[in-house]
Amino acid sequence: MAAEHKFSIGLRLSDLNDYIAPSQACTRPADVPRGAPGAQATQLALAADGSVEEVGADGSRAALGAASVTLNDCLACSGCITSAEGVLVAAQSASEFLSRAAAARSSGAVVVVSLSPHSLASLAAYYDLPLLTTLRKLTTLLRMVGTDYVVDTSFALDMALEETACEFVERLGGSGGPLPLLVSECPGWVCYAEKTQPHALPYMSAVKSGMQVMAAIVRSKHFPRPAGREQAPIFHASIMPCFDKKLEASRDDFARGEGGLREVDTVLATNEVAEVLEKTAPGVRFADLADAPLDDGALPLLNYDAHAGVLFGAPHAAAGGYLEYALRRAVERVHGVRDAGELSFVPASASAAKNADFCEARASAAPAGAPKCACAYGFRNIQNVMRRLKQKTCAYQLVEVVACPQACLNGGGQMKPPEGVSRDKWVERVRARFAERAERSPAANEAAEAMRKLLGREAMRTVFHVREDKSAKNPLAIQW
Ligand code: SF4
Ligand code: SF4
Repeated sequence: MAAEHKFSIGLRLSDLNDYIAPSQACTRPADVPRGAPGAQATQLALAADGSVEEVGADGSRAALGAASVTLNDCLACSGCITSAEGVLVAAQSASEFLSRAAAARSSGAVVVVSLSPHSLASLAAYYDLPLLTTLRKLTTLLRMVGTDYVVDTSFALDMALEETACEFVERLGGSGGPLPLLVSECPGWVCYAEKTQPHALPYMSAVKSGMQVMAAIVRSKHFPRPAGREQAPIFHASIMPCFDKKLEASRDDFARGEGGLREVDTVLATNEVAEVLEKTAPGVRFADLADAPLDDGALPLLNYDAHAGVLFGAPHAAAGGYLEYALRRAVERVHGVRDAGELSFVPASASAAKNADFCEARASAAPAGAPKCACAYGFRNIQNVMRRLKQKTCAYQLVEVVACPQACLNGGGQMKPPEGVSRDKWVERVRARFAERAERSPAANEAAEAMRKLLGREAMRTVFHVREDKSAKNPLAIQW
């Protein structure tokens, strides 16, 4: 299965076959059973067809068994992403979602699906429907498969943005870590940093992503369960704009209890929603699904105003909205200026004049000495920031970093452009649907602020790990 366009580019390698071959070293050391004391070491040899054989003490040869890597083992190191992709698809596929949701319902569990606004915008563009209509039809589909609550990660993002702004103000005050603060919990960027840029880890914001903050809410006692099922367990799935999010959900940092359970049980990429529809209601067009009322008990978690009929989201939120909100809060709290004015984005350097993915933010009413902030989307721009960081020439106090050019509207798991539509034009259509949300500052989301206080700081923070290169200890790394 081709990995192209599914993962962010940091997690993709081209020209790999879809299996773990000895020359493509899995960085995860395999558990090798020890032989009985005195047993002879096994010899490996290449067969005439290039496959690997095990040579016994008596000279007999047998094909070497296939290596098996579970989703929890895989570090998403990009060492063999096509094989990792196979593991992921098997472990968090549309079929898996459907069977686990059905099993959860029949066991009495509450089924919750949290939806990324970037995924919703992509579906709206693809099915050529207004954003709110798309949400209603998607809700119908998800209810058909047993979902009790559909919630929007925009709510959790509002909480994450406030928490990030607090972290930024702390760091500007000299505590909590160095500057620049590198914000966003894009899993493509996190994997890349953990494996290749360990010097960047102290700069990274410790606030969880919107998906994981929503997971913290869903797993908490503050999540509103249906009457009569207050003690029921929860099955929690997410719909996200990239396959990288499947890896984020499977991090040990987001485990709950023993046995490999995670706070998000499974992640569907946006384009797997079409498969859910096909498997659930074969032959039914998305546009023909009924418009569900958005009236369930988890309504505040939808960022939806039923009276006005609008969905809300933070401004400049293609990558979450971290930069704008943290800058405004810092100007307010550190400099005492209540309104930083209009925000505009200018290329970060003369050589980046046509590069809309590497820009500095300018706030029209920002006072002298206000923090300098920039966005860097895509690995070309991230590498530029990493270089400046290493050389200690980074002039910014905050950089919003994500793996995909044009950020999450252009994620690798989004709906593909129709035949003949260029990727840029397609992203513009997705952006137009995304803009149907009413912009609202997270500061105006009282329900999110109340939930942030209820959850507390620790529930919203995570840690990062340096991922060492373990290939030297790995039997699969042997070269013949
Ligand atoms: S850890 Fe790396 S090499 Fe091993 S399966 Fe995962 S992506 Fe492939
Ligand atoms: S930028 Fe967004 S869509 Fe792309 S890898 Fe990161 S989180 Fe996923």
